[in-house]
Amino acid sequence: MRVYADNAATTYISETAMNTLVDCLKNYNSNPNSLHTEGQITAEKLAESREKVAKAINAANPNEIYFTSGGSEADNQALLSAARVLKDKGKKHLVSLNIEHHAILHTLKKLEKEGFEVTLLAPESNGIVDVNKVRDAIREDTALVSIMFANNEMGAIQPIPEIGAICKEKGVLFHTDAVQAAAHLPIDVQAMNIDMLSMSAHKFHGPKGVGVLYARNGIRLVNVIEGGAQERGKRAGTCNVPGNAALAAALEEGVANMEANAKKTAALRDRLIQGLSDIPHSKLNGDPVKRLPGNVNYSFEGVEGESLLLALDEEGIRCSSGSACTSESLDPSHVLMGMGVPVEAAHGSLRFSLNEENTEEEVDYIIEKVHEIVALYRKMSPFWEELEKGEREHVI
Ligand SMILES: *Cc1c(COP(=O)(O)O)cnc(C)c1O
Repeated sequence: MRVYADNAATTYISETAMNTLVDCLKNYNSNPNSLHTEGQITAEKLAESREKVAKAINAANPNEIYFTSGGSEADNQALLSAARVLKDKGKKHLVSLNIEHHAILHTLKKLEKEGFEVTLLAPESNGIVDVNKVRDAIREDTALVSIMFANNEMGAIQPIPEIGAICKEKGVLFHTDAVQAAAHLPIDVQAMNIDMLSMSAHKFHGPKGVGVLYARNGIRLVNVIEGGAQERGKRAGTCNVPGNAALAAALEEGVANMEANAKKTAALRDRLIQGLSDIPHSKLNGDPVKRLPGNVNYSFEGVEGESLLLALDEEGIRCSSGSACTSESLDPSHVLMGMGVPVEAAHGSLRFSLNEENTEEEVDYIIEKVHEIVALYRKMSPFWEELEKGEREHVI
């Protein structure tokens, strides 16, 4: 059996997105900045895509949607813009979380080198930040709060409406990396007081290399890519009309089916969590309820996540240990460490990210194989032997 359970790393492209992509490559292949007839027809296609995206997140105006090369670029531009624009007003402090994606964390590091001060809050042990800590971290000179909508590794959903309200009250800009949330959780940028938001097509059945930065009108953006005047002068480069249209189509479809998909996926998620719960010295990471519908992140003491992943791969099960972006490094996940998971437990963690196309049979197959493989690897592990002999303390 082959089971794809790595949807947080990337999703397959949907029929709708694929058809839109191909249709645009064939029929809307002019430069939308050309003044001739075909150029203008393509420009209309692009405008339509922008409208669809605006509608999906309840943006007030389609001109608040900036197409980018993906979630990483959108994250970079949001942070760099807020920092560089507000620096002139004496604001040099930024607030974020230690469990953010590296697109956020590495950009914050860069800004620190430019003289900004960064407060990185840690979430509680369930992976969710205490909103009072966010309120307390905001200072007179705070330019921006950037807190992710939902975490890509352990699925915890942050209290975005509450944080939005606090930022509004304090007069501080609020950005959220909603790459894992878009098309999976309801988003309303106006009701949630979100000033800037990032998303990426390939996390909701669109193509890779296409994303969006939403920036509320009135927010000044600085360019990350300099050149022509595309995207209202804020993101240069000939517009990727097919990619943008495919993003919009995938998002529209995802939002239309969100409730049904989330219900189905969450039932599979809970079946998997339940099925793994009788493995001794193992534990679910992240809040059991306030979590992405498809996310299961489990720690198994005494074994290496990477070894489990490769053994499961042999059995046809595709999952992840930590995030895909760090899967080449042997350091334990900064997300699990950041929420206080002991290092031994962080090393033995696996992430399954399901979607609406998975089945109960697939979930039962995962449960069976994880039981087998964890037992087998523990039997071979000198570390586990020490735990069993009482020479080491169990952390789970
Ligand atoms: C995947 C991901 C990104 C990066 O998006 P790309 O389009 O791959 O650049 C950023 N943030 C989160 C939370 C993600 O899951």
